[in-house]
Amino acid sequence: MHKHHSALGVAAALRPVQSVTLVRPHAAERAARFFSEKFPGRSLYAVKANPSPDLLLTLWEGGITHYDVASIAEVRLVARTLPEATLCFMHPVKAEEAIAEAYFTHGVRTFSLDSHEELDKIVRATKGATDLTLCVRLRVSSDHSKLSLASKFGVDLADAASLLMATRQVADALGICFHVGSQAMSPQAYSDAMARVRAAIVSASVTVDVIDVGGGFPSAYPGMTPPPLEQYFRTIHEAFESLPVSYSAELWCEPGRALSAEYASLLVRVERRRGDELYINDGAYGALFDAAHIGWRFPVALLREPESHAKDVGFSFYGPTCDDMDRMAGPFELPADTRVGDFIEIGMLGAYGCAMRTAFNGFTNGDTVIVDDEPMASLYTETVRPAEVAGRVIKL
Ligand SMILES: *Cc1c(COP(=O)(O)O)cnc(C)c1O
Repeated sequence: MHKHHSALGVAAALRPVQSVTLVRPHAAERAARFFSEKFPGRSLYAVKANPSPDLLLTLWEGGITHYDVASIAEVRLVARTLPEATLCFMHPVKAEEAIAEAYFTHGVRTFSLDSHEELDKIVRATKGATDLTLCVRLRVSSDHSKLSLASKFGVDLADAASLLMATRQVADALGICFHVGSQAMSPQAYSDAMARVRAAIVSASVTVDVIDVGGGFPSAYPGMTPPPLEQYFRTIHEAFESLPVSYSAELWCEPGRALSAEYASLLVRVERRRGDELYINDGAYGALFDAAHIGWRFPVALLREPESHAKDVGFSFYGPTCDDMDRMAGPFELPADTRVGDFIEIGMLGAYGCAMRTAFNGFTNGDTVIVDDEPMASLYTETVRPAEVAGRVIKL
């Protein structure tokens, strides 16, 4: 991969026709170190947020040794990329063949489940293994989160006791896991969920060895500035300390977004301007799925030299495909004189951005290049963009 000093440098030097993915390994490594040093337990990276092998290697360098995988393809990918890593298969509904391959071929010992059927499947597929860590996924509220994960998975509290007792019978180590929803804007999401965990443990009277608070740790986006992550960690630690679990119980978390959002951004070119609508060369079927389909606002910056001094106005974007759905409403704040041929950086796309690309309509992404300037926002450093980077308008 080519290395450049800055996003602006890439635009100026390459003038790329296709959208370019800009990656910042230093930002991902910083996030990994933050979690591995400050989270009061073990941090598993949720691979679905961004499965790029380069990112996996970077997170490993930053101290992340455990990986939350959700499909057999993710199991194989991480096993191949990081042979020393510990894999945890945390999708509560798995193919029996996937469980068997994970257990017998890739050494996976940790699985999640939220039903008696899945427990039976795990027992059958592992031929009654006695060395399993089984995590029962509890349904919790997504009230504090921007993206709900409350409907699809998780056993209800009322049904948790019987599943916990049955799982305890076959598990070497018993865990309880949950997911508060993605981009949880308040630590209270976790204290509320932990109250439900406590109720489940009390109702089942089982010994619990692992509490896994899942993902949901936020990143920074326009209009969404979360409290510092340390507050989340403190809240979780306090709740964990007061749970009726065994003395040697472990605390885990599964951040996806928080470890990967700052890793990547996108360099796009304006192909047409129609009023306050910009037609750009990436979109809903590319790295901007969330911007199109759930109205997520990402930070944007015009990369032009000399810098524009025009006042900012709110733009919407059209992507390159031939349908109306390829539209990102924004508003994306850019200088009023933004025009055809300009390059724009769209930030914070390392999580659920680059991972979701398709090649629909023949529009694929171009190169991936490494840059060593700062991401457009960061939860892990005070300094955002160095002042010497010209042409930048940082809008949060
Ligand atoms: C998606 C997912 C995660 C990661 O969630 P983030 O909100 O990106 O941190 C963690 N655990 C499970 C089980 C998931 O499905």
